[in-house]
Amino acid sequence: AIVLYQDQFIDRDQAKVDIEDRGYQFGDGIYEALMVYSGRIFLLEPHMKRLERSARELDLALPYSTDHIIENIKKLIELNHLDDGVVYFQITRGAAARQHFFPENTPAVITGTVAGKIRDLSKRPQGIKAILADDIRWLRCDIKTLNLLGNVLAKQKAHASGAGEAILHREAIVTEGSSSNVFIVKDGTLVTHPADHYILNGITRLFVFDLAKKMNIPLAQREFTVDELLDADEVFITSTSNEVNPVLQIDDRLINGGEPGRIEKKLIDAYDAEVERIRAV
Ligand code: PLP
Repeated sequence: AIVLYQDQFIDRDQAKVDIEDRGYQFGDGIYEALMVYSGRIFLLEPHMKRLERSARELDLALPYSTDHIIENIKKLIELNHLDDGVVYFQITRGAAARQHFFPENTPAVITGTVAGKIRDLSKRPQGIKAILADDIRWLRCDIKTLNLLGNVLAKQKAHASGAGEAILHREAIVTEGSSSNVFIVKDGTLVTHPADHYILNGITRLFVFDLAKKMNIPLAQREFTVDELLDADEVFITSTSNEVNPVLQIDDRLINGGEPGRIEKKLIDAYDAEVERIRAV
């Protein structure tokens, strides 16, 4: 595979980063993941806007303009002949002798990879099991940083118990998933945590807002509790790679009798239609 390193396209085996890179030492960097359908990037603009915001919040100077980064991502997709799949790219504050405060005159380092993932409608996710886990992360979960240990530990706990996601909560309040946003449906209304420093404002989350609006499904951005979660008519997660995925069981509790719900199915169908639309552009 060909990977992106700064402004170069090189063989995966040839790509090396410095052992004193701050991404490696401190998790000092940011990232984005994008889906590609039929070679076309899905929801590119909001992802790049979020990248710019993450950089601003961390005072990290991007190594290239956003337009140039987009150009390079498109080239990476082309060089790898990627049809359906994921582009992952990250930007660190670069390599410098280890000290906590920011180095001066050290260029940021961008790297990017792609992975093929056929989107087969007949094999689309049928829903997942989830576990509940304490949200032990820091208080700037709105920034998409490389510092993911709280997320990693929660996901590992889910994985070890045969579940696909960990739904995080701070005391009684549900925040989000370890790598997704969480929605509940109650009496026909979608409810999800407001976009503040407790969650990442998912691009898929915002896309679902658009779909819901088009379909006249009411939506409330408000805090909800673990009890409301377990008592919901439907529960689903959203993320770039998992799109809209029903949660059919949380710990030992079945949601909607363990079947995808009516609103989930409507959103999934609407999502499919949007993906097929961009394939045809
Ligand atoms: N929340 C967290 C913690 C995530 O890591 C992710 C994505 O990886 C999301 C939410 C969903 O964000 P998006 O829809 O932009 O992929």
